[in-house]
Amino acid sequence: MALLNFFGATRQVTGSCYLLEANGEQVLLECGMTQGFRRDEERNRHQFQFDPKKLNAVVISHAHLDHSGLLPKLVAEGYSGPVYVTPDSADLLDLMLKDSAGLQERDAEWENRWRKRSGKAEVKPLYTTRHAEAALELLNPIDYAQPTMIAKGFELCFHEAGHILGSAIVDLAIEETGQLKRRLVFSGDLGNTCSPLLRPPKTLEQADLVLMESTYGDRDHRNKQDTLDELVDILDQAHREGGNVLIPSFAVGRTQDLLYYLGKFYQQGKLKQHTVYLDSPMAISATRIYDRYHHRFTEEDQELLASNGKGKLTNWLPILKCTSTPEESMAINRIQSGAIIIAGSGMCTGGRIVHHFKHNLWRKECHLIFPGYQAKGTLGRRLVDGATNVRVIHQSLAVNAQLHTLGGFSAHAGQSQLIDWLSHFQRVPELYLVHGELEKSERLAEAIKNKLGWQAQIPEQDEQIAF
Ligand SMILES: [Zn+2]
Repeated sequence: MALLNFFGATRQVTGSCYLLEANGEQVLLECGMTQGFRRDEERNRHQFQFDPKKLNAVVISHAHLDHSGLLPKLVAEGYSGPVYVTPDSADLLDLMLKDSAGLQERDAEWENRWRKRSGKAEVKPLYTTRHAEAALELLNPIDYAQPTMIAKGFELCFHEAGHILGSAIVDLAIEETGQLKRRLVFSGDLGNTCSPLLRPPKTLEQADLVLMESTYGDRDHRNKQDTLDELVDILDQAHREGGNVLIPSFAVGRTQDLLYYLGKFYQQGKLKQHTVYLDSPMAISATRIYDRYHHRFTEEDQELLASNGKGKLTNWLPILKCTSTPEESMAINRIQSGAIIIAGSGMCTGGRIVHHFKHNLWRKECHLIFPGYQAKGTLGRRLVDGATNVRVIHQSLAVNAQLHTLGGFSAHAGQSQLIDWLSHFQRVPELYLVHGELEKSERLAEAIKNKLGWQAQIPEQDEQIAF
């Protein structure tokens, strides 16, 4: 009998972590970081609910930190076996884990400065660059559709999930002596079938047990064309009014989708701005990795990019300027109008975007576009909620710029897309909804019952099931 332990992303969207046990072997599925409020992030410092030294293999569905961010901690605590990922995820993880480690080091350094002054004991970073490098050494890339034995009786196969570059659906065949082979399918984060570039999530027909994400289990996304029309209108208005456009964006996924659409508007003669600045070293590197794997794009988008951009996203938008250095970034401050500035962080909690706020947020002719969800407690959320004044880098700023929230750019499947993906399984599997706030998972379970007549369960933290 195999055991499955739910150690994370139960009734919430971050901290993915599941442990599988069979044949006396232990396979960890995901090693994600908890993200959100400070009190939630404290969880990242808790001890793992298993012994890292006893694991036989680790499988990571994609490079987002809420699925991979505790890998360096796992290695710091003694794990030294293989970490199975797709080759594209391996490249993205190199970028993201090093960045995350740098952030942990800087955070601890900052906190220790005031701790020292107030006579408190110093804190250690959650992990360091050295730990991230050690974790990267363990990556073992396996391409999509290449069944591979990863532990005794565990055969792994990745399938395209269409969420970000390299994202995978994890398909595990588990065989124990004297028992029938069982298939466990973990959806990972499933892509929105309306997103550009990447192919849509692969549908599968066989599974005995399915773990499915439910981030947007309660609703469908807004129509893509409506969102694109709205974006063109906003850019037009900003051009007429003589201001800049700021777009806070996540470095991996959202930024590449935006570059794709802006390039399309440019080719169609709809983009009036003189320059699009990609002002984020991380997003620039991530875009180059997307370019390296352009064979993952849909045939249609590969042809489109080949016809006007030598097959690459970085060439597709001729007015794109990648500003890596701080000097190049600061030079943007002098531009009063006609610029589109894409910068991180995606929820405005830091990064170069807040510096651009200093020069643009108080000007009514400027526009601020949120292409993604803004979590509670972030500066982005305060702005979306209508703050008239915000404090940014020790300065009080009036919010006079015009704010817009675009709903159609999600990298996750909406409710109907999730149910459609499920409907391809030929036999009714045992179904568990994970990676979603409780209310959203409940709404999805209800919709699955209505449309497919299937029963879905919503596991609790630390629940263990046998299958
Ligand atoms: Zn993700």
